[in-house]
Amino acid sequence: MEILSNDTIKRIKQKLVLGFHILDNEGQGSYIAGHISTRSPESDYFWTNQFPLGFDEADINKLESVSIGTNEFDIHGSVSPALGLHCEIYKTYKNINSIIHTHPIYAAALGIIGKNLEPIDQQAAPFFESIILFDEHHGVFNNGEGGTKEIVSAIKNNKAILLKNHGILVFGEYIEEAIVGSIILEKAAKIQIISMAAGNLQKIPDESIRQAKKFLNQEEIFKWKFNYFARRAIRANQNIKKML
Ligand SMILES: [Zn+2]
Repeated sequence: MEILSNDTIKRIKQKLVLGFHILDNEGQGSYIAGHISTRSPESDYFWTNQFPLGFDEADINKLESVSIGTNEFDIHGSVSPALGLHCEIYKTYKNINSIIHTHPIYAAALGIIGKNLEPIDQQAAPFFESIILFDEHHGVFNNGEGGTKEIVSAIKNNKAILLKNHGILVFGEYIEEAIVGSIILEKAAKIQIISMAAGNLQKIPDESIRQAKKFLNQEEIFKWKFNYFARRAIRANQNIKKML
C-alpha cells in the first residue's frame, strides 16, 4: 500500500495500527478487552496498543512496547494485564510473530456449544487441521491467570484456538496472516452455526481442502486480503490515515 512507510520498523507499526482498525471495521472491536500484538524483528519485544484504548482508537503515537522476557506478573500500567499471555506465547513459539485475541460472536458461539470449526467453508481452508477447541475455562487473562500455561501448551502447530465460553486466539508468522485469519475464522464460524441450524454439515473432502489450504496459505494472498480490508476500513473512516 502506498500509505505505508519504506522504513521497516515504522511500516510494521503502521500495519499493527491498520490491523486494529481493520478488525474494528469488521466487527471484532472487542471494546477494551481484545488485544493484538506483533513482534519486533530487531529485538526481543513486541508492540501493542495502549490500555485501555479500543481498537478504533489505535494510533501509531500511542503504541507501547513490551519486553518478551517480561515476567507475566510484571505486566501493569499502560498495557493490558492480559498481555502476559502474549509474552509466554512469543517465548515458547519463535515462529509466531503476531497474536490476536478477540470475542467475535459466531466463533464464541461455537466454543460455547463445544464444537470446533469444521472444514465446510473453502475460504477457511488455512484452518484445516490447524485449529483446536480449548475445552476449558479458567477465568480472565490477568497477570498469568486465565489458563495461560494450559493455553500455551495447547497451541503447538495450530493457527487458532476457540476458547470455550470466551473468544478466539489467532496466530500468524506475520501480522497479515493473523488479521485476515481472524476475519475468515469468524465468517466460517457464522456459516457453520447457520448451517447446523438448517441441516447436516456436508464437509469438504480432505484432499480438496488440503489443495485449497496450500493455495490460500500463500503469503501474497494474505497480504492482498489485508490490503483490501485496510482500504475498506479507510473508506469507512478517513481519520485512520492520520493515525498511521
Ligand atoms: Zn478475552
